[in-house]
Amino acid sequence: MTRILTAAAIIDASGQSRGPSAITFEGDRITSVAALPAGASFDDVLVMPALANAHDHGRQVRTSSIGGFGKPLEIWLHRLQLFGPVDPYLAAAAPFGRAVLGGQGASMVHYTRAQGLTDYVSEAKVVARAAKDVGLRIAFGIALRDTNPLVYGDSQPILAGLSDAARAEVEGRFLSPPMSVKDQLARVDAVAEAIASPMVDVQYGPNGVQWSTPALLEAIAEASAATGRRVHMHLLETKYQRAYADQHFPQGIARHLKDIGLLSTRLTLAHCTWATPEDLAIIAESGATISVNTSSNLALRSGLAPVAAMLKAGCKVGIGIDGQAFDEDDDLLREMRLVWSLHAGWGFDAEVSTADVMRAVFVNGHRSVNSPVTGLIEAGAPADLLVIDRAALDDDALMPVDPVDLLFARGAARHLKESIVAGRTVALVGKVSGVDLDAIHRELRAQLRAGMADRESFRCVLPELETVICQHFSDRLGCC
Ligand SMILES: [Zn+2]
Repeated sequence: MTRILTAAAIIDASGQSRGPSAITFEGDRITSVAALPAGASFDDVLVMPALANAHDHGRQVRTSSIGGFGKPLEIWLHRLQLFGPVDPYLAAAAPFGRAVLGGQGASMVHYTRAQGLTDYVSEAKVVARAAKDVGLRIAFGIALRDTNPLVYGDSQPILAGLSDAARAEVEGRFLSPPMSVKDQLARVDAVAEAIASPMVDVQYGPNGVQWSTPALLEAIAEASAATGRRVHMHLLETKYQRAYADQHFPQGIARHLKDIGLLSTRLTLAHCTWATPEDLAIIAESGATISVNTSSNLALRSGLAPVAAMLKAGCKVGIGIDGQAFDEDDDLLREMRLVWSLHAGWGFDAEVSTADVMRAVFVNGHRSVNSPVTGLIEAGAPADLLVIDRAALDDDALMPVDPVDLLFARGAARHLKESIVAGRTVALVGKVSGVDLDAIHRELRAQLRAGMADRESFRCVLPELETVICQHFSDRLGCC
């Protein structure tokens, strides 16, 4: 099917915004882009590439709903146990639906919390089906971890600080023995066999250095080199993770990752909030991508990533939502503004430009999820496009203003008229096309509420666990 979009302007990674144009696409590919002659009519819209969310987990609902607001990562993570298992289709279709409403055409799904109601491969197939129904491109990163279930070190001192009841609850929920390295890697192969497609990229997803034995990370590095499969991993999200890295890898954590062969163009590192200039120089040299997750780092009290230093070092930077957008929605357009606002530089300093931010969501994020989108709107490129209501964006309409300025001043999901992924309309004026998102949310919330009773005993011991963990980290690095 051939379709022609006309637009007042095109914005893409070329850095040149173009005036009135016609974009023709057939199936999932753009076949031509042409400037319109003077006097030709066109829709009053801006067209730009669909955005890539370079780091996320496909989390079913907002975590402040389980009391997660303002909690540092090291206790927030345990609190996620309050989510009982639900139908994995609903748990995936809900965030995927919100993603396309938030301007995302492709998203990382670092699958750190399986529902576990069936075998893992069957659950992965259901997640892939949800992505297909919604029309979102995904990278499915299989979580891999085998150590440090409670804190970044021995669990015994934490358990010793708990009452008998709390200790039994925590042991039951967190201390089951991990799968072997061999079995974890075999699971990645089995999932890839079952769900990999042009719309679903399967990746190794080690949770992080502090949650992996050296044997696990080395085996992943080797397997990635052998298969060419990408790797997606958290790194240096919090100051406590920095302290762990410094203690265990005095030669420098980035140097260590390079030495074991994990650091390569195939690797995406989520966060790097506490990366040093030395780390950044090594990461830049390797060609790895960093996904910064600004809203998440604010919500979980993790810090402000050195985005300007990352760019100055030559790192490829993408932007992730990490299930914690600033308004706890999945609005990647607003996230672009937040990243620019916090990192552009003060006064007349110019450190991070709007072009840098657009390159992150138009180009680097897509590369890290292995999407074919190049960030350019041109013949031959995938038809992954956002259509933004220009008149709504410029509702004051006083004088001609660069649309990029308006996008960064006020652009948000509410300005999206249509989202197109691989030539298919996935969202139209605030409605997801492929699934009934309201019905999915209703059923999902009902299942989550029904599961809360089962979590009551854990909810009762959480304050005790959080106090002991807070004390553990406070003793090491000052108050958390
Ligand atoms: Zn994350």
